[in-house]
This record gives sequence, structure tokens and C-alpha cells, in this order.
Amino acid sequence: MTTIQWFPGHMSKARRQVQENLKFVDFVTILVDARLPLSSQNPMLNKIVGDKPKLLVLNKVDLADPAIIKEWQEYYGKQGILTLLINAKEQSTVKKLTDAAKRLMSAKIERLQKRGIKRETLRTMIIGIPNVGKSTLMNRLAGKKIAVVGNKPGVTKGQQWLRTNKDLEILDTPGILWPKFEDQLVGLKLALTGAIKDNLLPMDEVTIFGLNYFKTYYPERLLEHFKGIDLSEDEPDIIMEMTKKLGFRDDYDRFYNFFVKEVRDGKLGRYTLDRVSDNNGND
Ligand code: GDP
Repeated sequence: MTTIQWFPGHMSKARRQVQENLKFVDFVTILVDARLPLSSQNPMLNKIVGDKPKLLVLNKVDLADPAIIKEWQEYYGKQGILTLLINAKEQSTVKKLTDAAKRLMSAKIERLQKRGIKRETLRTMIIGIPNVGKSTLMNRLAGKKIAVVGNKPGVTKGQQWLRTNKDLEILDTPGILWPKFEDQLVGLKLALTGAIKDNLLPMDEVTIFGLNYFKTYYPERLLEHFKGIDLSEDEPDIIMEMTKKLGFRDDYDRFYNFFVKEVRDGKLGRYTLDRVSDNNGND
């Protein structure tokens, strides 16, 4: 878990680091958590990335709700933004990302070919807020035999390109950006999925938010997982009942930690906390 504290100075440094590298890449790989397609994006993403081609990669798809993810793909598709669903832990990710990169850059590749220039390898950098899976993805892409391609002129000193295959190279340092934590609802969503440290938000509030979310969208899962509870009651009463049933006596802190862990571990099934319909697509 990250310990980054985001102060204005850190934010401008992070922004600068990403922007300095933009000119060396063909496209930017924006990594988000598929449980939070919007809330795990950086609030200034479009400003930071500018008009560089973007590939929006929704990671941790194994934990996310497939129906809602499909809606997000359609939503971004309408805006002309190419999205890709991955589980960074799987080997198939390498081919998926390489293919998507070629699709994203097909017009440019064709233009160059017409001028007799054969573009051998596409270059990208991975950017995203902490915990979305940047390191996991980079390790997956670089593989065991991390082939360092060597310093290229201009790239920030000490940085190198990692070769995935003949078609794709990635900058060895991911761009780590800050989340939209000033929005309270976003903060609760980030906390429920474990994207931010537990002590940043009160666990009772995170639990109530999660309980309410599952009660609204996935009530059958709560009923299945916590047998015998009455969902028509208010959240505090449900929490009391659940805590008692679990044999935690009056140890509510224990229940909060237990509930949040169950949600994070996917014990209540696959879920996505951002819905296209909730935010009217504002980003
Ligand atoms: P980073 O901070 O963006 O570099 O994120 P990490 O690569 O450290 O990943 C954060 C956590 O998410 C780790 O516990 C990873 O094992 C986990 N993780 C990454 N990708 C996936 C995925 O596709 N599915 C699941 N279930 N977990 C993942």
C-alpha cells in the first residue's frame, strides 16, 4: 500500500514528470481500476496528457461487474476513446495490450508507411493513481527477461525503455498521479476498494457506504452472504444484527474491518462502484 501524501508540491512534481516524458512516447497508457473507472482517474488527466493518443486500460477486470464495465466501454467508445479490459496478472494481457496499441496507432503507422517509414516499435508510458496495478502490469509486460533497451537521448536521466516484444516498448518508470480525493464520495469509493490507506477515512463511514451500495445494487448478495438479515432496516440496525450474527458481540470496529475486507477480496462478488448513469459522464 502506498504511503504517498499528496501535497500541492508533490502534485506539480508528478505532473511535470509525466509531461516531461510525453514527447518520447507514441501514446499514453492510462491505467484505472475497473471497479472505479472514473474515481480512479486523476482529476487533471486530460490537461496533463493533452492531445497525446490515449489508451484507457481498465485493470482488475476479474473483480469488476461485467455489465457496468460494458456500459463504460460504450460510453468511452462514443467519445472515440479506445478502452481495454485486462487482468494484469494474466499472461494474455501482453498480447491484448500490444494489439490495442497497434489499433490505436494504426492511422499513424499507415501514414508513416506511405512515406516509406517503417515504424518498428511503439512506445508508451503507463500512468495512473497508486494501487491500480501499474507495477503488476509493467512486470507482466516486461516479463522475466527484462530487456533494457538502453538510454535514449532526451529521456529523463536514468530512465530506460523496457521491451515487451518487437512491437511495444514501455518507459521503465510509471507516472504516478493523485486521485480525486477532495470529492468525499470518491474518497469512500477509493477506501472501500483499498486504493487509499485505511486511516484516511473512518471505517464506519466506509462500511455504511459499502453496505448501502450493495443494498441498493446487489441486495441478493448481502442476503446470501449474511444469512437471515433484514435489509428493510436502516444501516446501523443491519450492522448491529450482522455483528451479533457473526459472534463479534459489540465489537463494531471488528465488523467494519471484516466487512470492508470481504468486499475488497471479492467475497460479495464482482462490483463496480462508478456507474455511467450516476455522473452523467462528467469527468
Ligand atoms: P500500483 O501501485 O499501481 O503499481 O499497483 P500494484 O501493481 O502494486 O497493484 C496493487 C494491488 O493490486 C496488488 O495487490 C496487485 O496484486 C493487485 N492487482 C494488480 N492487478 C490486478 C488484477 O488485474 N486483478 C487483481 N485481482 N488484482 C490485481
